[in-house]
Amino acid sequence: MGLNDIKTRIAKAAKEAGRDTSDVTLIAVSKVQPNERVEAVLKEGHRSFGENRVQEAAGKWPGFRENYDGIDLHLIGPLQSNKARQAFELFDAIHTLDRPKLAHTFARLAQEMGHCPPLFIQVNTGEEPQKAGIAPADTDAFVAECRALDLPIQGLMCIPPVDETPSLHFALLRKLADRNGLGKLSMGMSDDFEQAIAFGATHIRVGSALFGQRVPIAG
Ligand SMILES: *Cc1c(COP(=O)(O)O)cnc(C)c1O
Repeated sequence: MGLNDIKTRIAKAAKEAGRDTSDVTLIAVSKVQPNERVEAVLKEGHRSFGENRVQEAAGKWPGFRENYDGIDLHLIGPLQSNKARQAFELFDAIHTLDRPKLAHTFARLAQEMGHCPPLFIQVNTGEEPQKAGIAPADTDAFVAECRALDLPIQGLMCIPPVDETPSLHFALLRKLADRNGLGKLSMGMSDDFEQAIAFGATHIRVGSALFGQRVPIAG
């Protein structure tokens, strides 16, 4: 499916939800995609992209930035504290602030580097043990802790469990954001971005529907 098809679907979903399309940012998730596919989307004029690994992003985005202005790169995958500095240098937003230790690392780096990218707190809405994120019950306290550290928290992010109705998770994330006065919601992927828009998503993360299936890297 091409960029224009996805944009048409976004516009339709926004209209049905009584929302402005311009309030929904399409993050094109380019992880593991061959550079030609990514560059084709850049050539069509798209500028917001998502990567889930610092290393992979470091290998491809500095080069693209030399050739294309206005790139807006989002980190959507788990971040180790020892890669936080590199993440601050590479990304325009980080969606995966998922633990107190990382918040403290960010606060220290913000002081030292004089800037901090806009942040989303990842909430483990399904309370899955293997998944990163703050538990829903701990979210209010964590938002307060981050604010006390002067971190620029913009919103919340979630990845619903694969075997559950995503809408319930989108609704929960929305509720948690609303009651903490957070305006941005990073939710919705290839299979469910229209539902996410109905529940107020401001940032949808779409990979395979846009670029095609990811080709697994051998090894
Ligand atoms: C890979 C990934 C996506 C995109 O998934 P698709 O199903 O290919 O759209 C979205 N969000 C996160 C956090 C991801 O890791």
